[in-house]
Amino acid sequence: RSKDAGGGKHFTYEPALHAHAEERRKLEFSLRRALERNEMLLHYQPVVSADSENVVSFEALLRWNSTDHGMVSPAKFIPLAEDTRLIVPIGEWVLREACAEAMRWPRHIKVAVNVSGEQLLDPQFATTVVSALAVTGLPAPRLEIEVTESIFLRDASAARNTLEQIMALGCSIALDDFGTGYSSLGYLRKLRFSTIKVDRSFVQGAAQKNPESLAIIRAVVAMAESLGVTTTAEGVETETELQVVKSLGCNKIQGFFFGRPMPASDARALFGPGEAGSLAGRAA
Ligand code: C2E
Ligand code: MG
Ligand code: MG
Ligand code: MG
Repeated sequence: RSKDAGGGKHFTYEPALHAHAEERRKLEFSLRRALERNEMLLHYQPVVSADSENVVSFEALLRWNSTDHGMVSPAKFIPLAEDTRLIVPIGEWVLREACAEAMRWPRHIKVAVNVSGEQLLDPQFATTVVSALAVTGLPAPRLEIEVTESIFLRDASAARNTLEQIMALGCSIALDDFGTGYSSLGYLRKLRFSTIKVDRSFVQGAAQKNPESLAIIRAVVAMAESLGVTTTAEGVETETELQVVKSLGCNKIQGFFFGRPMPASDARALFGPGEAGSLAGRAA
């Protein structure tokens, strides 16, 4: 494998690649100004108890309505925010905003906030959580932090350390998108997660009677039960999927079947005066 002598193959001008880099540069330029321009907002998606179908929590999901680019998908801007570490200040805003909003809900309803590896490895992260709780007055047990398995790839002991500090405050930790990443059962033994979120791909597979998906959900539920961890089925869209994950023993359900991520005002409106937050009038 000698070097391509006269080739220059590596230096060929790639218009598509260039356009991509250019778009990314523009997006980054706008993302740097997104917070000060008030372009970020949170939507809230209900999570219901499998038994009662009452709302038990909402997951806060970040939305970017950019003046320059319109609505930008999280699939596009979250990775960019992570690469540029802009996720650190943005994530701080998310935490405060979500905790402040949760103060307007009935006291038994929790809020779940997604946190990236970059945020967790920031030495200030625990302080950020402490001050979000202090400034808003939200009791720590009402805040759940969602992390994915990928946080254990880079610096597992640092990530674990920070999560232990957060747990010491009284917050709970959920393991998101379980089964899609670099699953190692080691960290389930080392950290007391309160919830394992079973990824939507398994939910879909199980409803299509895919034997592997069924076996994986069964195994996750059995393992979670013996560890004293609850399970949430993610991305439940249909009645069939609901019945399957219920029969497999998942404790909580999240997905379009019960509710899409919605503006804060709509989430708030689910609770009438003294009401438990039932999704009886759900659209499905
Ligand atoms: P996630 O934490 O796994 O969030 C669930 C995603 O699944 C959300 O996508 C939600 O809209 C979508 N979803 C919920 N139910 C259904 C369903 O029934 N069917 C389908 N097809 N999809 C469903 P979204 O809002 O686009 O967020 C994508 C990802 O972006 C999140 O995945 C999370 O990893 C990340 N993210 C969102 N907000 C934040 C944030 O504030 N901070 C960080 N670090 N990451 C965030
Ligand atoms: Mg999540
Ligand atoms: Mg998820
Ligand atoms: Mg997912």
